[in-house]
Amino acid sequence: MISCKEYVEIEKQELQKYVSTNKLENCTLAVIQIGNNQASNSYIKGKKKDCEEIGIKFEHIKLEETIDEIALLVEISQLNTNDNVFGIIVQLPIPEHLDKDIIFNSIATYKDVDGFKKDSRHTSCTARGIIDWLDYNKVDLDGKNVTIIGRSNIVGKPLAKLFLGRNSTVTLCHSHTKNLHNHIINADIVISAIGKLKYISNNELFNKKQILIDVGINRDINNRLCGDFDYERIKNSVEHITPVPNGVGLLTRLALIKNILGVSNE
Ligand code: NAP
Repeated sequence: MISCKEYVEIEKQELQKYVSTNKLENCTLAVIQIGNNQASNSYIKGKKKDCEEIGIKFEHIKLEETIDEIALLVEISQLNTNDNVFGIIVQLPIPEHLDKDIIFNSIATYKDVDGFKKDSRHTSCTARGIIDWLDYNKVDLDGKNVTIIGRSNIVGKPLAKLFLGRNSTVTLCHSHTKNLHNHIINADIVISAIGKLKYISNNELFNKKQILIDVGINRDINNRLCGDFDYERIKNSVEHITPVPNGVGLLTRLALIKNILGVSNE
């Protein structure tokens, strides 16, 4: 299989061509940041870099931690009516005095490029990124047993929906799941999105035909990024395992750019 990193490099070149052929240089991603969360700073930096690399504009709107809801809604409404703004992201986390549902629902459906709204025109970036990468690798999903660990609204649930749409047999696991190991052993594809450092480490659960996709982002005691799978212990027991870093994070970022540009895979 082609790795996430190689795949993203190839796809980025295609997207650069797409922007210039379709004269989309004014297409803008607007990111609203409220306060100065360190993790947010680094995610926003990544998004800016990706936009610049592809050739689209990036607007970083930094607002005070104390901003009131009305002022924020006015800001979003102006972006909704700006034709150059193709995508709007309100970077999480946001302060507690702001109602997340009200804020996210105020983003125009077709500009919700994170795909967080129930009626969004876009698919959640992580879910889309994973399916696009599997498609690129010509992995036949029809009839495959797919075990997804984690049922969040932004990762597990949208992924389950996409796999079901491809006629996979989906098992969606969570913290109340009994005998998680059995669901792993019987799967063709295992995706972990729980956010627990090297939580799955027993290489005896796996076989050489399985594909493992690690969504988890965790830090070890040396502050190094690690996934939910113990990559080093498992990597030789399966057909493919995505690393952390340089795995699903890259797929997610690529899918965001595709959502902004309205690029489908048809
Ligand atoms: P979340 O909302 O915290 O959901 C975690 C899910 O894992 C929940 O469904 C939870 O079950 C389940 N879970 C927790 N412990 C479990 C266990 N021991 N066994 C089975 N299931 C368990 O997390 P999220 O927002 O989906 O994010 C998950 C991880 O992915 C985090 O590390 C996050 O940083 C990372 N992430 C990465 C990307 C990327 O681009 N690479 C994108 C998004 C998220 P319950 O529902 O029962 O509580």
